[in-house]
Amino acid sequence: MTMKAAQRLALVALVILLAWAFFAWGGPQWLTLEGLKTGLDQFAAWKNASPVLLGLVFGAAYVLVTALSLPGAVIMTLAAGAIFGLFWGTVIASFASTLGATLAFWSARYLLRDWVQARFGDRLKPINEGMARDGAFYLFTLRLVPVFPFFVINLLMGLVPIRSLTFYGVSQVGMLAGTLVYVNAGTQLAQINSLAGIVSPGVMLSFVLLGVFPLVAKAALGWLQRRRVYARWTRPRSYDRNLIVIGAGAAGLVTAYIGAAVKAKVTLVEAHKMGGDCLNYGCVPSKALIKSAKLASQMRHADHYGLSATVPQFSFRQVMARVHAVIAAVAPHDSVERYESLGVEVLQGYGRVVDPWTVEIKAADGSTQRLTTRSIVIAAGARPFVPPLPGIEEVGYVTSDTLWDAFAQLDASPARLLVLGGGPIGCELAQSFARLGSAVTQIEMAPHIMAREDVEVSELARQSLTRDGVDVRTGHKALRCEREDRDGVTHKYLVVEHDGVEQRIEFDALVCAVGRAARLKGYGLEDLGIPTERTVVTNEYLETLYPNIYAAGDVAGPYQFTHTASHQAWYAAVNALFGHFKRFKVDYSVIPWATFIDPEVARVGLNEQDAKEKGIAYELTRYRLDDLDRAIADGAAYGFVKVLTVPGKDRILGVTLVGEHAGDLLAEFVLAMKHGLGLNKILGTIHTYPTLAEANKSVAGEWKRAHAPQRLLAWLQRYHAWRRG
Ligand SMILES: Cc1cc2nc3c(=O)[nH]c(=O)nc-3n(C[C@H](O)[C@H](O)[C@H](O)COP(=O)(O)OP(=O)(O)OC[C@H]3O[C@@H](n4cnc5c(N)ncnc54)[C@H](O)[C@@H]3O)c2cc1C
Repeated sequence: MTMKAAQRLALVALVILLAWAFFAWGGPQWLTLEGLKTGLDQFAAWKNASPVLLGLVFGAAYVLVTALSLPGAVIMTLAAGAIFGLFWGTVIASFASTLGATLAFWSARYLLRDWVQARFGDRLKPINEGMARDGAFYLFTLRLVPVFPFFVINLLMGLVPIRSLTFYGVSQVGMLAGTLVYVNAGTQLAQINSLAGIVSPGVMLSFVLLGVFPLVAKAALGWLQRRRVYARWTRPRSYDRNLIVIGAGAAGLVTAYIGAAVKAKVTLVEAHKMGGDCLNYGCVPSKALIKSAKLASQMRHADHYGLSATVPQFSFRQVMARVHAVIAAVAPHDSVERYESLGVEVLQGYGRVVDPWTVEIKAADGSTQRLTTRSIVIAAGARPFVPPLPGIEEVGYVTSDTLWDAFAQLDASPARLLVLGGGPIGCELAQSFARLGSAVTQIEMAPHIMAREDVEVSELARQSLTRDGVDVRTGHKALRCEREDRDGVTHKYLVVEHDGVEQRIEFDALVCAVGRAARLKGYGLEDLGIPTERTVVTNEYLETLYPNIYAAGDVAGPYQFTHTASHQAWYAAVNALFGHFKRFKVDYSVIPWATFIDPEVARVGLNEQDAKEKGIAYELTRYRLDDLDRAIADGAAYGFVKVLTVPGKDRILGVTLVGEHAGDLLAEFVLAMKHGLGLNKILGTIHTYPTLAEANKSVAGEWKRAHAPQRLLAWLQRYHAWRRG
């Protein structure tokens, strides 16, 4: 047993012992109205003999009763008034009750808080955040209104994040009014026949009003603060639009569409290409490339399927042309024509927020127009981050923004390709170009690629990339780029450091994929004083400093996915248009994502790494895809489904899937988590045979097997034996 566990045990033993003594010595009989009235003469005698000593003894007893959460605090307060009078009675009761409350608070914190936080983990997050923000207000309200049981508040507050000093101070002030009422009642003890009548409905209502007051005052203060940010601007008398959206990527398109669907007058401003990063530089081209690369790899390993393995013959130019053809094929979904047909006005030009209600749009021909609007949604996205490595501009590089056009000009994929960055984009590109013939070296500073995933997943990813010929170098820090012109040939190098030793890696093309930074400058945020950090700072309603200006998508974070951008778009649009009636907090509770390397890696909710970091207890169930009929038939018998559940329950905390079509298979778990369906429900659902989706049912089956009722089964065995005679 650890020292801490022993101390806890000792504390529990002490509490039990003292509580037992209280009951054994007839505490409950003493702490009644009758008991108090009977003993009053005796108290008066003690008080005459030694008032200070009695005050101290009485105070100590009061502290003990409240610290142990024993019944009788109300009687003690009455007694304080009856014995010591209004002033001293209030002083003694106020300090003793607060001290006792704080001891109870500490005990609950010491004995139970870690366990409760570990047990309920993420579910307590909103409560923890609320308490960290407004804990003092909540406590004050609870203290003022004497209907909330005193000891329950003490114990509950011990479990949530509120500082002890705050707890003490707020409790003492908050309980003062109630204490006064009861102490005063105690001075008239003879007239009291029941505890219920002490606080009249009128007094109780006053307490409730007093308790709610701080919250109302806080809301009013917030309202005033919000108004103050507008003070230096002149609000237009009327507005040209209900909503102007800046940026036509996933976030902007969906925001504008929702606005138009509910009949608002919406203008969508796009400076560059409709569809934003996802269509033009991100998801769409990368997935098109991945498909060609995968086919090339399958041809190379055709013997795996009983065919002759071949070295794929292809024109890299045509592969890249197909990528652009795919973009062109998807483009109509995000086109000006489509959105105009949906009722959105689309203006092509650079949008700049001039004041909280005005956007200036500068068209390519230099002409400008200004439109006023009730609300603005900033959906300006992110751009690739280029690390400030000395020499990088001299050697040249491509990013996801420039790669698709630059490589489309090449006849063959670059012979020596250096991919800087071990995140999802870097991994997808590294594997694809390796499969298309490049000798790829991938540099990652962290010890693992795809560092957000569990180490075993990162390791699998590394193995699969390595199998495709990628030289994955983790723990390598890029220091600088160098260029040498020798014999009329330009040689380019990246200098990296690994284990304190510098290495030079020569390359023909450098892909910079070290992350993407939100677009924050140049379109008015600075002029309006809208705070930005790595992203635009918003509250949970996606409001910026100005409550009529919202941000969504990559520019707002915290995620950088197309589906989270469109998810946020709903909140931005609805809050922007109807927030004066009701605002909605963005729900980030179930966020899925996938990395489309081969095999795919898909995740929703917690993985083991997260759960451990957050101290959340979990149970792990795993199903290996090499056991799945369809995966075997497809030659895709690798990977696994890993499900984290609440210990002893089938409630899903998170899922990591590695395997063929993992991104698609994940959808069932996303649905289950979103709607609170457990593994039992997945197990009880028919899955078509033979499909990869059966993996989801199989992992639920594994969980069920591990939770089979062993005792009942033993009895059933006996029953069947008996039936056989
Ligand atoms: C290589 C790569 C692969 C990816 N793969 C995936 C994937 O598989 N799945 C996934 O979910 N996500 C993926 N992503 C991420 C995804 O592309 C982004 O999360 C998504 O595009 C974000 O959408 P957004 O609307 O916030 O921003 P964007 O798509 O960047 O759109 C912002 C738009 O705003 C415009 N704009 C900016 N400022 C102004 C202004 N002042 N005036 C007018 N217009 C302006 C820009 O021109 C741009 O078109 C990938 C990204 C990359 C780079």
